[in-house]
Amino acid sequence: MGKVLVIGAGGVGTVVIHKMASLPEVFGEIMLASRTKSKCDSIAAKVGKDKVRTEQIDADNVPDLVRLIKSFKPDIVVNVALPYQDLNIMDACLETGVSYLDTANYEPLDEAKYEYSWQWAYREKYKKAGITAILGCGFDPGVTSIFTAYAAKHHFDEMHYLDIVDCNAGDHGKPFATNFNPEINIREVTQKGRYWEDGKWIYTKPHEIHKPLNYPNIGPKESYLIYHEELESLVKNFPTLKRARFWMTFGQEYLTHLRVIQNIGMAGIEPVMFDGREIVPIKFLKAVLPDPGELGANYTGWTSIGCRIKGLKNGKEKTYYIYNNCSHQAAYAETGAQAVSYTTGVPAAIGAMMYLKNIWKKPGVFNVEEFDPDPFMEQLNLLGLPWVELHDVDLEL
Ligand code: NDP
Repeated sequence: MGKVLVIGAGGVGTVVIHKMASLPEVFGEIMLASRTKSKCDSIAAKVGKDKVRTEQIDADNVPDLVRLIKSFKPDIVVNVALPYQDLNIMDACLETGVSYLDTANYEPLDEAKYEYSWQWAYREKYKKAGITAILGCGFDPGVTSIFTAYAAKHHFDEMHYLDIVDCNAGDHGKPFATNFNPEINIREVTQKGRYWEDGKWIYTKPHEIHKPLNYPNIGPKESYLIYHEELESLVKNFPTLKRARFWMTFGQEYLTHLRVIQNIGMAGIEPVMFDGREIVPIKFLKAVLPDPGELGANYTGWTSIGCRIKGLKNGKEKTYYIYNNCSHQAAYAETGAQAVSYTTGVPAAIGAMMYLKNIWKKPGVFNVEEFDPDPFMEQLNLLGLPWVELHDVDLEL
């Protein structure tokens, strides 16, 4: 039995707490802390107040984080606040000698750019302190990286081509909404496309490359090549990959809204003066868009996320597709959150479980594909994200 401190009481935090509270044999004591304590309290009330303690915390303040960690004494801190907080929480974990897990890599507030270099720079310090950092343990990054590690371990001698395919075929009934934090989401999908080929990164204009792909039990959906953070660590950890790409589906309505938002300057991250005070356009936009945590009630349809891989096994060419389909309605019925939060929160809870069971525990900073995928894959099947494998099929890519 372990003690866990979860930071962030949004859509993903809601799912993490539901799953952890349902596994008291693993998560003996749970604390949920976030900027707005009332949000922690309402999540705790849903799973049973006696199961979860709550606290207010500003995770941008390292001394406050250190105080909270010292008073609760968790075995691991699960960061499901925003990527801006990653380094502060990693610093506080280092100071208190407590392990760390997150679902998204660090992004500086003033630059729409994310890469692992900032977090990888903690490797030696974490190693020396004898603590573990598990990076990117949501679905993508997270399960997609674990699927890749599982494929490498069980099905390929050499992997050559990897395409991660992420389809949200759900309908929330709103003209425009983002499925997770709008600020982070819009920053991610409006940047340049990028993929790995023959040892270097190839850049594309945003959404320049697209094609319809067939998703199991869903059908064809227009899929757009975008950059996604797990590509950075996967091409390092699986150096036989000649090409690695990431595809995400977007509807025409979504793309039209996004274009308008960008054209009128509402996606801007530089402060502008308004009524005598500075505001950041994208932060204001977040305030008026639907809260992703509230989308669940009317959400229908499925997500389908997986990896399509081509390579060699026993000297012969092999293709392989591994995926999970997740129902928005089933996710909502279980946790009160939609499938995008669910598919992120369940892996985060499993990652913390892997640490507490001493299965994923080694000093240093690691991306999830650097651990044994098998025990994690087993838990996905048990905890609501079952996966399906297809061998020697047409990958369309
Ligand atoms: P939300 O915006 O719904 O929730 C974020 C929570 O963090 C809010 O409760 C917010 O507080 C809290 N928070 C923000 N800043 C601070 C701070 N300084 N101190 C303390 N708490 C803070 O986001 P989501 O739940 O949708 O996403 C959470 C994380 O999951 C994000 O990092 C996102 O990038 C990641 N993610 C990862 C995915 C994956 O597959 N790997 C997919 C989807 C998301 P308040 O309520 O006061 O605003």
